[in-house]
This record gives sequence, structure tokens and C-alpha cells, in this order.
Amino acid sequence: MVIAKARAVDGPDQSFHAAEITRREIDSQDVLIEIKFAGICHSDIHTAHGEWGPVNYPLVPGHEIAGIVTEVGSEVTKYKVGDRVGVGCMVDSCGECVNCRKGEEQYCLKGNVPTYAGVDKYGEPTQGGYSTHIVVTEDFVVRIPDGMELDAAAPLLCAGITTYSPLKHWGAGPDKKVAIVGMGGLGHMAVKIAAAMGAEVTVLSQTLSKKEDGLEFGAENYYATKDPETFEKLAGTFDLIINTVSAKLDMDAYFGLLTLDGTLVNVGAPAEPLSVNVFSLIGHRRSFAGSMIGGIRETQEMLDFCAEHNIGPKIEIISADQIDEAYKRVLASDVKYRFVIDISTM
Ligand code: NAP
Ligand code: ZN
Repeated sequence: MVIAKARAVDGPDQSFHAAEITRREIDSQDVLIEIKFAGICHSDIHTAHGEWGPVNYPLVPGHEIAGIVTEVGSEVTKYKVGDRVGVGCMVDSCGECVNCRKGEEQYCLKGNVPTYAGVDKYGEPTQGGYSTHIVVTEDFVVRIPDGMELDAAAPLLCAGITTYSPLKHWGAGPDKKVAIVGMGGLGHMAVKIAAAMGAEVTVLSQTLSKKEDGLEFGAENYYATKDPETFEKLAGTFDLIINTVSAKLDMDAYFGLLTLDGTLVNVGAPAEPLSVNVFSLIGHRRSFAGSMIGGIRETQEMLDFCAEHNIGPKIEIISADQIDEAYKRVLASDVKYRFVIDISTM
């Protein structure tokens, strides 16, 4: 058993505090990881604030985890001590259902085991990456490519895969016009990945304040959604729109930007329901879809893709004592573009 140092929160309106958590004894197929960096995802905030439903506190969030293997179980074959590895949003699934067998463990019919705020196969609550160590079954661990820094790898484990998966599934590539709504943690990775896939990328951000960055990340166009003319000018333009916004939007306005047969994929997960006027969809055979992270195999593929194309997140490293401040800044859309906790400051 390992006692890990962590940062935990005790309720929706509480601040983070230092805590100690117990990680299970490693089983034959487990690896023990010494965490070096953990990204702060907006999902951590939704969860910590209890916006998605009741949570068992104390809660240690964090599902963008990068670290080093320090111990392996007797039957582990994929990893050895010293390997550089990552863990994303889930740490287990049934492994037997049709979706797990396809490598889409995130859609496990019995429900995947989330990295935090879940319950593992031993009946214990899961706790995330704002901590010094974690024990994970090897099948839910991915390898960080050589040459990719651990701090930059961390955000790819959620922000990277959550945008890579729908971009690939819906065919982002040459001759495709793709719009990314919201340029925060997920959004800025979506811009870089879609551009690397060869698509013509447009950013739809609230204002033009981050335009220079967006163009540098690979976008060809950048528009402010606060300007109503944007919606007139871009009507019927995009084959694919990825909406990464964490708050409720007027969806019909965005559906109007899709081409015939275009698809808007929501990865943003606001607590409030989004409303749809079906006439915004039926007129041009448009689709409204959702997508959740990606499977383990696809997560490895995404890491290798990012290494090959030399892309990664733009990050701001913080210490463990700055988590509350970072949450406030994310909520104010004041993040460029992912906060990453240096776990050595625990
Ligand atoms: P983030 O860094 O806060 O980015 C969200 C961006 O949305 C902001 O930077 C801002 O971009 C825009 N935005 C925020 N509030 C807005 C408002 N009221 N109106 C219009 N635009 C607004 O968050 P994130 O970590 O990228 O996560 C984004 C969402 O995805 C969250 O809801 C998160 O829970 C969800 N998520 C889903 C999955 C999945 O599997 N589907 C995985 C991870 C995260 P601009 O400043 O450019 O306007
Ligand atoms: Zn996330």
C-alpha cells in the first residue's frame, strides 16, 4: 500500500487542502505510477462543484496524468519500472461488452470506471491525479512517446483525446472545413489536431482577444461569436463543428453554420440541458452529435500522432497551492491554455 500526498476538496464551495490518500496494493496486472504532472480540466471543476450530480467528498480530481512507473505487478507485460506513462479519464471497464471489445472502453455498457469520483472493482472510491501516486491496471495506461515532455503530455490524456476522437470519427482532413467553438483547454488542442489532420480550421471564440494564438495554432480563420455578423457571414459553411464550450449556447445559431449533411459534435458538457429547434437541423439534413473522450488504443494513437506532428498543449505550470486560483481563472476563460500542476510541489 502506498500513502500518496494529494490535494482534496470537501464540498462544492470548498477550497482545496492537503490530504493523504491510500493507493491499493498493486495486483498482478497493476502498475504503480509516480505522478509528475496533472492537468486541470474543466470537468474537474464541474465535478468538484457538484454540477453534474452528487459527488462523494473528499474528492481528489485529476484525469490528465503523466508520470513514471515505479513498480509493476507479477503479470504486467507492457510496462517496466522507469517507463514514462500517462493515465486519462478512466482506469477500468468490464472488458467484455461489445463496446469494450471494439476498444471503445469509454462507452462500456456496464460503465467505465472514471479515474476519480468512481468506484473501482474492489468497491473503493477512485481518486485522481492531483496526487503523488496512482495504481492502475496496465490496460488503462498509455505510453508517452520519447521526446514528448511529461508536462506537455498530461493535457493530451483528456483534452487531446477528447478532440482527436471526434475529429477522426467525423473525418476531419483535407477539403473539410472544421470550426472549433471555444478556445480553452480542449479547443486549442482541437485547433492544432484538426490543422495537423489537414482540415481548414476556423475558431469561433467569444471575442478576438486570442486571435493571434489561434492562427499560430493552425487556424486559418478566427471569428468572434459576440459579433452577430459572424453568424450571417458564416451561414452554411462548415462540414464539422466541434463545440468545446463548458456553458449553455444558443445551439440553433451554430447549426445554421453547418453545410448540407454537416455535423455539430458537442464535447462541452454544461450541466444545463441544451435546447434544439429541429427546424435548424431538418432543413439541411444536419446532425447534432456527442462524443466522450476516446478508447485506450485511440488514446495511444493520439499521443503518437501528436509526437509525429510535433504538437502539444500550451501550458501554464502551477504549484499545488494554486489550484483554487486556477479554477477561478478557468471559469473566467482566463487560461492559456491549460493549467498543469507540478506534482513535486505537493
Ligand atoms: P475551458 O478550458 O474552460 O474551455 C472552455 C472554453 O469555452 C473557454 O475557454 C471559452 O472559450 C468558452 N466559453 C466558456 N464559457 C463560455 C460562455 N458562457 N459562452 C461562450 N463560450 C464560453 O474548458 P475545457 O477543459 O476545454 O472543457 C470544455 C468542456 O468540455 C467542459 O464542459 C468539460 O467538462 C467538457 N469535457 C468533455 C469531455 C468529453 O469527453 N466530452 C472531456 C473533457 C472535457 P473562448 O474564450 O474562446 O470563448
Ligand atoms: Zn477532462
